[in-house]
Amino acid sequence: MNCEDLIAVILEYLEGSMTPEDVEAFEAHLQKCPPCRAYLATYRKTKAMAAEAGRVEMPDEMKARLREFILRRAGAGP
Ligand SMILES: [Zn+2]
Repeated sequence: MNCEDLIAVILEYLEGSMTPEDVEAFEAHLQKCPPCRAYLATYRKTKAMAAEAGRVEMPDEMKARLREFILRRAGAGP
């Protein structure tokens, strides 16, 4: 795998949709290529920021209801 290959599959890597063999090749390249490590770090940060920006805050009432619902389910048991 070279730098171009790595960049082409970076999204699959982050989403965990690569085969174990590809992950191995990907990580082997990262080990010996600092620029690709930097690229991956930047890519990850950008993706996290985008996810953060798109996040909708859950209202307190919703949180309380969800908690109650989960507790009730947990209490009921299998
Ligand atoms: Zn590289």
